[in-house]
Amino acid sequence: MSAPRPTLPLCSTTVDFRSLVEVVQDYAIFALDRTGHIVSWNRGAQLIKGYAAEEVIGRHFSIFYTPEDLACGKPDRMLAIVERDGRIEDEGWRLRRDGSRFWANVVITALRDETGTLIGFTKVTRDQTERERASRELRASEGRYRTLFESIDEGFAILDVLFDDRGTACDFRWIEVNRAFEKLTGLRDVIGKTVREVYPDIEPAWLETYGRVSRTGEPVRFEMERTPVHRWFDVYAFPVSGVDARRVAVLFTDITQRRRADADLQAARRVAETERGQLATLVAEAPAAIAVLRGPQHVYEIANRHYRRLIGNRDIVGKPIREALPELAGQGIYELLDHVYRTGEPFSSPELGVMLDNLRNGVLEQRFFNFIYQPIREADGSVSGIFVHAIDVTEPVQMRQAAERLQHEAEEARTAAEWANQAKSEFLAAMSHELRTPLNAIAGYLQLIAMGIHGPVTEAQRTALDRAQKSQQHLLGLINDVLNFVKLEAGRVEYTIEELELADVVAAMTPMIELQLAAKGVSCDFRLSPDVMVRADRDKLQQILLNLLSNAAKFTDMGGRVTVETTACEDAPPDLVCLAVTDSGCGIPADKLEAIFDPFVQVNRKLTHTTEGTGLGLAISRDLARGMGGDLRVRSVEGEGSTFTLFLRVPASRSSLPPCASRTSHPGQPS
Ligand code: ADP
Repeated sequence: MSAPRPTLPLCSTTVDFRSLVEVVQDYAIFALDRTGHIVSWNRGAQLIKGYAAEEVIGRHFSIFYTPEDLACGKPDRMLAIVERDGRIEDEGWRLRRDGSRFWANVVITALRDETGTLIGFTKVTRDQTERERASRELRASEGRYRTLFESIDEGFAILDVLFDDRGTACDFRWIEVNRAFEKLTGLRDVIGKTVREVYPDIEPAWLETYGRVSRTGEPVRFEMERTPVHRWFDVYAFPVSGVDARRVAVLFTDITQRRRADADLQAARRVAETERGQLATLVAEAPAAIAVLRGPQHVYEIANRHYRRLIGNRDIVGKPIREALPELAGQGIYELLDHVYRTGEPFSSPELGVMLDNLRNGVLEQRFFNFIYQPIREADGSVSGIFVHAIDVTEPVQMRQAAERLQHEAEEARTAAEWANQAKSEFLAAMSHELRTPLNAIAGYLQLIAMGIHGPVTEAQRTALDRAQKSQQHLLGLINDVLNFVKLEAGRVEYTIEELELADVVAAMTPMIELQLAAKGVSCDFRLSPDVMVRADRDKLQQILLNLLSNAAKFTDMGGRVTVETTACEDAPPDLVCLAVTDSGCGIPADKLEAIFDPFVQVNRKLTHTTEGTGLGLAISRDLARGMGGDLRVRSVEGEGSTFTLFLRVPASRSSLPPCASRTSHPGQPS
């Protein structure tokens, strides 16, 4: 509707109102007759509604109404109201000539004559389309914001902060709150109330903070606790601009859960820190070598004191193992670590030998470790490193290796000695056998000569023959001893064990020794319990007794004394009986008491030279005693005499010793 603005037709002295109305452009002003037909039309009406005056004069004003208004008879209703009330103001959509709609503000006024009779109506219409659109948009926008305001989870409130005379914030009033506010605070119907009415104990910090926002216009974000209810809030307070300088908007959420979770997390972190610290101390001080290698290059992350000491205190943390310990190349260690890292399989090996260049002079020293490589896994199961645990066992391993070497050498030596002993025994057996044959032949020839078979024998020849025969006997005795001993050593002696009366056996061999005792002028006292039975080989038993008695005779000087007696066995099982041979001879030094049972040992060579013997008698006797389940032991005081005790087995039913019967043979009085 763009028509040239008419100039205002002013008369020189008075205002021509009709002309004024005619030219008003922003208002459609026209008159209706009593029936609603248009009788006048101004410029503004033409601009707003699009009709020229000649097009509308005489037409009913309802042509401007929309079909909806017409359908409900709005034009006539309006006129009826004006006729009754004199005036009506209405707003609504109206039609332009081109059919388009505009938002009209309409005021219809009744026109009456002097008598009050209705003569028509004036109608003033303003185009308010722009204002209406703006106001609708505002309403829509407000609606949208209201929806948003109500739908957010955050609590929202608009507050009027109240200050005291000194300008200090002392209270605030809730102007507006959303639903979340009520949900989060549990407060209902607070609008218009002040916080002190609701919470007389409100913490001053809340008031101070909102007061500051109101005063400075600076927004603030803070977290604060409502201590009486133990609830924490995250609050954003900002000034509401353009309305009231003291008004503050508050957007807040309840973060009690988060704060508790944070507090729990902090506590858990503190515990974890403490534990980590303790663990670190444990690892650092552990007596084992501990290291942690990270990544596929096995970079040292941790190496405790013990570990670093084992590798010569090298600076290794932060370095890959191939760089930190280059001498391990070719020893399979890198490959083992690669395998553990790749497969995630732990590895352990006792006494793994490793060559280390701890002095860094190129000289490798072998060390042994009990190793454990344990993969370190992340939460997703992937391997991110390797935990190394090693115990240095170099010293025990080296000591054991040395002991094994020594044992091996000892075994070799023993084998060699056994072989040599065997060879010696075989040699002695063969020699003894070979010597006995000619000796027996010598004895036979000597006997033949002595019997005079080869002619008469002079007294001098007989004496010589006697000596030759004695020498032959002695030599034969020696050879028999050697042969016996060889047999015993080779375990080739056979025993014929039977139940024997001990006194019988002793009596049977007494004649064999009496001459020897008598020759030395040594008396012999036999104190044997009668009926003492033993389980033994008769010949072997006699051989032992003969040896003991002949030694007693040999090592006891003229006028000495020998006792043969059955005694109670101290410290011996009850199935043994003891036969003691005691002499008052030269005795045996304490340090030789065990040695005299070794073969070829003779304590006093000088003395023995004057006597006779091979040094085999006791060795043979003890072997024979043991071979029959008994033993032979000695007690002696040098210069005072000796007691040789023979232990013999008794038959199963007998174990106690009956009282003894005594018999003494004196030198020169064989019994
Ligand atoms: P031999 O009597 O042939 O020398 P033995 O084996 O019988 O060999 O005795 C070994 C050694 O024990 C003797 O040489 C002697 O030194 C010592 N001996 C044995 N019996 C007695 C004893 N009754 N008194 C002192 N010494 C003895």
